[in-house]
Amino acid sequence: MQTVKVRASTEYDVLIERGILKRAGELIKEYTGAGRALLITDRTVDGLYSKAALESLKSAGINCEKFVFEDGEEHKSLKTVGDILSFAAQLSLNRSDIFIALGGGIVGDVTGFAASAYLRGVRFVQIPTTLLAAVDSSVGGKTAVDLGDYKNIIGAFHLPEKVLVSTHFLYTLPDREWLCGMGEIIKTAFLDRKVYEILDGSPEKLLERDEAVLEACVHECITYKRELTARDLYESGPRKALNVGHTIGHALEKTDKHRRSHGEYVLMGMEIESFILGDRMDCERRKEISAFVAETGVDYPDFNPEEVAAACMKDKKNGGGAISVMLPDYENTREVRLSFDEVLRGVTLWKLSR
Ligand code: NAD
Ligand code: MG
Repeated sequence: MQTVKVRASTEYDVLIERGILKRAGELIKEYTGAGRALLITDRTVDGLYSKAALESLKSAGINCEKFVFEDGEEHKSLKTVGDILSFAAQLSLNRSDIFIALGGGIVGDVTGFAASAYLRGVRFVQIPTTLLAAVDSSVGGKTAVDLGDYKNIIGAFHLPEKVLVSTHFLYTLPDREWLCGMGEIIKTAFLDRKVYEILDGSPEKLLERDEAVLEACVHECITYKRELTARDLYESGPRKALNVGHTIGHALEKTDKHRRSHGEYVLMGMEIESFILGDRMDCERRKEISAFVAETGVDYPDFNPEEVAAACMKDKKNGGGAISVMLPDYENTREVRLSFDEVLRGVTLWKLSR
């Protein structure tokens, strides 16, 4: 088992072990001492992994109830959180009991936020089952739900007690969800040289779901995000590096109405942002980003540059008439503030150049 210690406002461990679900009960009992738990999951993950999780918890002497909600971003809502809170109250769960998130980023965000609110905060454990959740959303303490079109607008920083990661979950992931997690890993390859080296300059091994490469990437992405979170939990400085590709990425995600996965928009966002940044960025690096993105085979939606630039202005990261774009350059990664006109011109030219 590999352990990555995360030091944020409190400290917690991310435990990485192939097939960890079988040992989940024993590990959760050992680390939290909880006698009761509420396992929270979505419909798909319930069908795949709940049974094994509940068996493991039961054999460790944890009395566990289950709450299942429907898949999809539209259920990352206050309604779902309200349903979870009502269920927890009906069960009379108390402060020594725990919530367990078994699923992707949506289950993690909903569970974390519900845990932050129930009894003014109960402990929770995360068992991420998507590549995105393993490498990204399970580290950093951000929890949130959406309010209509406003994504992640209601939430809290609430750190898990433990995160249990296993790559074995990832083999049942559909290709689109795989590509989603890959997007964030490829982004990290341009922020953390170790990830670039693991990939050996190409996303090929990841596309093939090579086990050794996958495990090394998961470990290093968690370690990298851990470093940033320890230095900057509230995203006022170094943690902003993680927003590479996300300014244009989020705008495309919005204007394309979420037809593709988040990671695909991040990949497109990285390519378009590096085009807009132009000479501020190393020419070879720009070419490399384009080559990585092309190899993943993401297909761009048709988009209206005006709408994309307008969506950038509405992003919660941007204000004062400027649009923030992160320039990826390892330890020299930095924020560049661009005007609406610069972004509009850049996106328009990029589209014409295709
Ligand atoms: P998701 O949770 O919707 O999961 C995607 C789909 O895959 C779902 O249908 C799910 O049921 C299914 N699934 C999950 N695990 C599976 C498995 N092992 N095998 C087969 N199918 C499986 O999506 P996601 O990409 O994991 O997460 C996206 C969410 O994460 C977004 O809401 C985003 O805002 C959030 N997020 C949060 C943070 C954070 O720091 N808190 C960071 C990044 C993303
Ligand atoms: Mg992201």
